[in-house]
Amino acid sequence: MGDEQILVVEDNARNMTLVRDVLHATGYRTLEASTGRQAVLLAAQHGPALVLMDIRLPDIDGTEALRLLRADERTASIPVLAVTAEAMAGDRERLLAAGFDGYLSKPIDLDALLVAVRLHHPGASAIPGTNS
Ligand code: MN
Repeated sequence: MGDEQILVVEDNARNMTLVRDVLHATGYRTLEASTGRQAVLLAAQHGPALVLMDIRLPDIDGTEALRLLRADERTASIPVLAVTAEAMAGDRERLLAAGFDGYLSKPIDLDALLVAVRLHHPGASAIPGTNS
């Protein structure tokens, strides 16, 4: 699965390491961003197969980053999963209404993460320029 990159957007170094390690151990490659703007830039440059988007980020938040991804034809169709510690009632519905393809809550359950990644990962054929 050489070209199946997952963009992990996370400003907390410990959470980033946790997610990166489990994805690498499962055979995925990662791109990593610690701010929303960096995430939007990397997504446009590399066309990842999936984005895991933290919501609370130091510049624009994850919902605004999602809006920018959806507004750019290069990134509009990439599945984006929200990853957030926000646990208020209605949050999940709010995030799904904003256009996220799914929702993972923190602290991150690694088994749930892998289930969600497998569910939403479109595979290498969805990446421009690859055909495997
Ligand atoms: Mn955060």
